[in-house]
Formats: sequence, structure tokens, C-alpha cells
Amino acid sequence: MNKWYGLTADGSTIPLEKECECIIHDEPHWIHMDRLKHELNKKYYDKPTTLNLKALAILEASRLKEKEYHFKRLNIIEIEEHPLNEQRL
Ligand SMILES: [Zn+2]
Repeated sequence: MNKWYGLTADGSTIPLEKECECIIHDEPHWIHMDRLKHELNKKYYDKPTTLNLKALAILEASRLKEKEYHFKRLNIIEIEEHPLNEQRL
């Protein structure tokens, strides 16, 4: 299991806690969903037709807009994943 951290603009690191009761993931829900959507969206590259690339662009823009929302909500500029036994704070 890994632990997630957010980096703030002033260079500090904050732990990102899980805020839901889901049993299928250990990371914060929005990070889990972001990775899931990214994996699904990448399938449009399997057959990169103009239509598929347009769909990919729309879906990725939507995914990144949501990710940006969480970055702003948590006041962070980047996220990092570290093994749980690796203490950051
Ligand atoms: Zn969840």
C-alpha cells in the first residue's frame, strides 16, 4: 500500500487522506477515479482515428478539469505516491 502526498506552492508536503468508505481502493477517492478514468481514456489510442482522438481529447480535458478542482480545493500543485513505510513528515 502506498501513501499519497500533495506538494504546496511554498514547498511543503501534506499527506492526502482517504475521505471515503470504499473497500476497493486505499488512495483518496479522487486520485483513484482519476487513475481509473485515465486508464479507460487511453483505450482510445488503441485505434487512433480522428473520432477516437476527439473523444480522447474531450474525456481527458474533463478528467484534468476535475483533477484541477481537487488541486485547488487542497491548495496543492503536485501529487506524489510513496511506499507506506517511507516516512515523509
Ligand atoms: Zn472511494
